[in-house]
Amino acid sequence: MQLLDGKALSKKIKNDVGRDISDLKQERGIVPGLAVLLVGNDPASHVYVGMKKKACEDVGIYSITHEMPDSINQDAIIDTIKMMNDNPNIDGILIQLPLPSHIDTNQILETVAPHKDVDGFHPFNVGRLSSGLDGFVPCTPLGVMRLLEEYKLDVKGMNAVVVGASNIVGKPMASLLLNAGATVDICHIHTKNLKAHTIHADILLVGVGKQNLITDDMVKDDVIIVDIGINKTDDGKLVGDCDYNAISKKASFITPVPGGVGPMTIAMLLSNTYKSAKKRK
Ligand code: NAD
Repeated sequence: MQLLDGKALSKKIKNDVGRDISDLKQERGIVPGLAVLLVGNDPASHVYVGMKKKACEDVGIYSITHEMPDSINQDAIIDTIKMMNDNPNIDGILIQLPLPSHIDTNQILETVAPHKDVDGFHPFNVGRLSSGLDGFVPCTPLGVMRLLEEYKLDVKGMNAVVVGASNIVGKPMASLLLNAGATVDICHIHTKNLKAHTIHADILLVGVGKQNLITDDMVKDDVIIVDIGINKTDDGKLVGDCDYNAISKKASFITPVPGGVGPMTIAMLLSNTYKSAKKRK
């Protein structure tokens, strides 16, 4: 079994992006800018935004965070996004999810200018992804594809099974795998017999948020495991959705949690922000 080491690869990508950004600054005087919109007091969201800000600083991206109270209304958020759309120093806009329940998240995401949508959540970019066209791709599944590429794992012709079908993880993951030539099965909460699908997987990608959802009897020998889930155990440890100890004995490749997909997500955010800045007129 070989580890898919996202921590090591993300460091390498950060170094590369940092170097590219310094060239961009020298050659064209451009400092990439990322605006983050953070609504409410969700502790996990504050931690994620803090990590993203720190990563931006490390590679030379200028970042600003617009913090708004839970009680904020839809129009005030929309006005802030429009201001960021019009700001020539901002190349990427990130809306930290989840938003409070009284906010219409879809309308908020559709307000972000597609050319600044570094999270790839705008329907314009979702459509481009499913048509196989260039655009912004959501950072987590993009990071997974980059990790597979690093280990020379070509999914063309493989049976790929994606468990979890959210707009930010499972669906874009499935689109990327399909575009890369895999035969893709997408499973979700209403899937009747999960094992009947997972047992045929050459590569199994799981993003649900349920500890031990996938056990070793549900996978075949030499499967490639990409565990996207993040769960906190009762004693405060971070684990994925797969029973790592048992499955790693059967798998050919596996992502650890932490240190697998998580660090790749932030690396892809930096890379998408650089990609946007490079297109600045
Ligand atoms: P979500 O709640 O939006 O979606 C969960 C998906 O899992 C849904 O499609 C649902 O149908 C499916 N599901 C739920 N129970 C299931 C079951 N018993 N069997 C099969 N499918 C089931 O969550 P999300 O935002 O997509 O996140 C999923 C997980 O990925 C979470 O653990 C989250 O923390 C993690 N995540 C990790 C990263 C990262 O960088 N590593 C990034 C984003 C999300």
